[in-house]
Order: sequence, then structure tokens, then C-alpha cells
Amino acid sequence: MSSEANNENPGDVRDALRDVVASAREWLVDLAEEGVDDLEVPVVEPSVAFTAPVVEAPAAKPAAAEPPRRTAPERADLSLLREGPDWGANPTLDQVRETLGDCQRCELCARRQTIVFGSGNPDADIMFVGEGPGEQEDKQGLPFVGRAGELLTQMIEKGVEIPRSDVYICNIVKCRPPGNRNPKPEEAAACRPFLDGQIAAVKPKVIVTLGKPAASLLLGRDVAITRVRGTWQDYQGIPLMPTLHPAFILRQYTPENRRLVWEDLKAAVSRMRELGGRS
Ligand code: SF4
Repeated sequence: MSSEANNENPGDVRDALRDVVASAREWLVDLAEEGVDDLEVPVVEPSVAFTAPVVEAPAAKPAAAEPPRRTAPERADLSLLREGPDWGANPTLDQVRETLGDCQRCELCARRQTIVFGSGNPDADIMFVGEGPGEQEDKQGLPFVGRAGELLTQMIEKGVEIPRSDVYICNIVKCRPPGNRNPKPEEAAACRPFLDGQIAAVKPKVIVTLGKPAASLLLGRDVAITRVRGTWQDYQGIPLMPTLHPAFILRQYTPENRRLVWEDLKAAVSRMRELGGRS
């Protein structure tokens, strides 16, 4: 053993061990959030070429800017879904936003800085639905503008070569859940009519849900995202492609995860074009 190792401070070793345990715990929480309930050790096949475009992970912010860790996901409680406004056949996004107003329909209003309604092309053929605003989104009032948002933009613009401004992006809740936790079922239920209004206004040809909470809400059942991702689903007659959340990809930035999301997005864009989409 080297003299350096012999002189290692027991406090440093304890700190290092604590970091390892904390990282493992965070990884398990991430997996639980994404609906993973079993694990298989993948067999790496070096001869299989990775063909997905290399998308650089956005540069990490200083430690102080890291979002708080998420809590384990809550189960969908479909009995909480409420009747919302009758949007009629052709609502506009402006009408939906006006009806939302200075919303205080759930407890998420208490700590928000801004309502993050959504952004993008009001006539988009493809619509992305995430779970809720994070810190940057809450400050700027726009969805997906933090690190996960930068990755989503790269996935859209470099991965499937569509300008971000051509798609519409929103979340299932419009106010930031404290500590970036998942939205509670009653919060998602309170905000659901406005998501329905956005979908009715945009009339996308294809919806892509990002992560487990959005897929579970729109599919009306608690899904394991690693099982449903990449499979075509249906939301009121609109083809729906569930995929992994960019924040999960950032935490598990592996070629395999990037390849899976790239394949999901390619399938979504291809379906959108089959259905006459213009992007
Ligand atoms: S999350 Fe939705 S329902 Fe809750 S206060 Fe915000 S806008 Fe209203």
C-alpha cells in the first residue's frame, strides 16, 4: 500500500463512501421514477455500431445550480380527474390561457414564480408533453429551458432535424412542484383540463410524452416507462409515443438511452409525416 493511501484521512474516506451511497440511492430513485421495477445487466456487443447522432450533454452548471433530488413517483389516482371547461371543437391557445388566468386551482400556485403554460408553434404537428416546470422554467416562464430543455432541443433539432419552433411543448402541470418532485395526482388532475385544452387547440398529429408521469396521465393508467416507451399508444385518436424524459437521460447519459430516445423521436416524426405533417 502506498504511503499516500496509508495517510488517507478517515474523514475523507467516510465522505467518499457517503458520496457513493448517495449516488447509488439517487440512481435507484431515478429508476423508480422511470418505472423500472426490475434490472437486467446488459450484454455489451462491441461489434454493434451505435448509429445515433452524437448529442453532447449540455455543460453541467455549478453545484449550487443543480436541482434538488426528486422523490419517488406517486401512483396515478384516476378518480381525481375532473371535468374541465368545455373547450368546444376549436379552442385557441389564447382562450385556454385566458381561462387558466392567475390559476390557484391547486397548491402548486403557492410557491411558483410564473405559470409555465407552453411554447412553440400553435399549429404544430407534433407536441411534446413533460411533467412540470423546473427552476429555470419557473423563472423564465417557458418550458424546457434548463439543462433538460437544452438536451430536448438538441434531440429535436440535431436528432430529428426539426426546428424547435416548429413543435409545441408543455407540461402536465403549469407550476413548479417544490424541489422538482413529481406532481401529485390531485395537482395533475387540477391542471389536466388545461392540457386537454392545449391539445384541443393545437390538434397535433402526434404526441410525444416525456417520462412516466406524462405517459401515465394521458394513457389513464400507471405505466412502466421502460416497457411502454417506443410503443405506439393512443390518446383520443391521436397517436402517442411515450419516451424517456430528457432529465433522466442527463442522469443516465448512456449511448443506449440516447439511442432509444432517438429511435422513439424518429418513429414519431415518421408517423407525423405519414399523417400529412409538414415539419
Ligand atoms: S399547476 Fe395548474 S392547476 Fe395547479 S395552480 Fe398551477 S396552473 Fe393551476
